[in-house]
Amino acid sequence: MLCAFAWWSALLYIKNKDAFQAKSNLMQLVMLGKKEVNSEAEFYQQKSYIDLKSKYQKQEWMILGEASIFISSLIFGIWLINRGHKIEVSAEQQTRNFLLSITHELKTPLASIKLTLETMLKRDLKKESRDTLSKNAVKEIDRLNNLVNDLLLAAKVETFYQPHKENFDVQELLSDIIHDFEDRYEDVQIDFDKPDKPIYTLGDKQGLESAFENLLENARKYSFDNVKINAMLAQKDNKILISIADKGIGISDTEKKKVFEKFYRVGNEDTRKAKGTGLGLYIVNEIVKAHNGRINISDNQPSGTVFKIVLPAATSPILQHDAVNLLS
Ligand code: ADP
Repeated sequence: MLCAFAWWSALLYIKNKDAFQAKSNLMQLVMLGKKEVNSEAEFYQQKSYIDLKSKYQKQEWMILGEASIFISSLIFGIWLINRGHKIEVSAEQQTRNFLLSITHELKTPLASIKLTLETMLKRDLKKESRDTLSKNAVKEIDRLNNLVNDLLLAAKVETFYQPHKENFDVQELLSDIIHDFEDRYEDVQIDFDKPDKPIYTLGDKQGLESAFENLLENARKYSFDNVKINAMLAQKDNKILISIADKGIGISDTEKKKVFEKFYRVGNEDTRKAKGTGLGLYIVNEIVKAHNGRINISDNQPSGTVFKIVLPAATSPILQHDAVNLLS
């Protein structure tokens, strides 16, 4: 279509030129015949020739203008269709990925718990074996619980999430999360750099807890064996800075923009080893945004990923309490 438009425009341009040439030749012959002009040079000075030329030039500009509008509209249309198609294909791929991963995520722990219970029922096991099996079953139940929580939270942040705000110490919350995390995973080592004093924020404690846990889970999932994570918490003026850095597989620059999308997972579901649903970072981003905060991703050195969160700080609840007392 583009070629056809270009060809028609060129043709029209040439035809217009030919028509002008023919008209001007005819006009010249008539004027010479009637002795209104004596030479070609004199003809070019005549008002009728100048009017004809200006009309021709206007038509020339009109053809060029219309051709460029048609061609650019066509290019814009092709670009829109192409973009729409790409969005549709990627949405389809993400839904397919989500269905595959959710089926896997639900079936695996259920199968594992069933097997554990059947083994415990059928065999007379020693106490140690029973304990080990029970611990594994509890881990699987935790996994299912986390998955259901993520699904509920994702539905909530998409529709009616309003942070239930309370004043709390982020340092205490992060220390507890990190402590529990290290207890849960023996192969994880977390270096937590924090100030000695409490750092207060006004926010949804449970929501932010889920966000930090999601980031730690990801740092573990997308790392190699013997996971080393660096967590940092600091306060600068009225801002709280939190960072979670791992030494894992990293995220490429093109993927960095996409990983906050709902259901988005890097790579292909059929070949990916790490479990997940693609909801974690979507939830984290929505929760941080609901707290008027920001989150960004950068590369760690020599490898891995750093997630940095900025949240607004609050004055300590004790100071607030004092202020209320002073006022009353
Ligand atoms: P999930 O982990 O369930 O797949 P997320 O929304 O938490 O979903 O993450 C989206 C994608 O971002 C992941 O599939 C993974 O490819 C990538 N990702 C997230 N965190 C990290 C990380 N710390 N290191 C490398 N890749 C990561």
